[in-house]
Amino acid sequence: MIRYDILKTIAPILKDRLVVCNIGSPSQELYQLLDQPSNFYMLGTMGLCSSIGLGVALVQDQPVIAIDGDGSVLTNLATLSTIANNPADNFVLLIVDNGSYGSTGDQPTYAGMATSLTEVAKACGCRNVVECSAEETATELEKAITSGKMTIIISKCQPGNVNVSVIDDDPVNIANRFSNQIRELNS
Ligand SMILES: [Mg+2]
Repeated sequence: MIRYDILKTIAPILKDRLVVCNIGSPSQELYQLLDQPSNFYMLGTMGLCSSIGLGVALVQDQPVIAIDGDGSVLTNLATLSTIANNPADNFVLLIVDNGSYGSTGDQPTYAGMATSLTEVAKACGCRNVVECSAEETATELEKAITSGKMTIIISKCQPGNVNVSVIDDDPVNIANRFSNQIRELNS
C-alpha cells in the first residue's frame, strides 16, 4: 500500500474531524479524496504539520489528527520532544512513513534506513507510540481517537504518489474555513 491507499482507508474516520495535513502530495491526495472545511492543508512550511496540529489540539477540545510524513518529521525532529513535553490528549499524530521524500520524487529518507522514528519518538519521551503496517492504520487511528490519549502512529508503507491535481483553493480561504470549523465544533 502507498500513502493514497492509507488515506482512502482512513477517509471515513477523518470525516467531519479537524485534520492538519502535510505539504505537497499528502494534502493534494487528501484534497481529492475528502475535501472538507475541517481540513487544513499545508501549502508551505515543510516540517510544521505536527507543530500546527499540536497547537490546535492544545487550545480547544475537539480531536485533532495531524497527517505528517517521515521526511517532514525528519525536517523538524524537535517536534517530537515538543509534543512529548506538551501533551494534548485530543491529539493524534499519524506519520505516514514511506521512507521517502514523496513530493519531490521519492528520494530515500533516513527513516527508511538506519533511523527509526518510532524509537526517536519514544526516546523524546512520547508515550503511546504505535508502529503499524499500512493495512492496520485505520484500526490504529480509530483506537487512538477513542482512547483519549495523545498517540503517535507510525504507519509503514511503500513509497509512491498518485497523480492528482494541485489544490486550487486560496490559502486564506483554507485557513478561514478551518478556523470557522474549530469555532463551530466547539460551540
Ligand atoms: Mg515520506
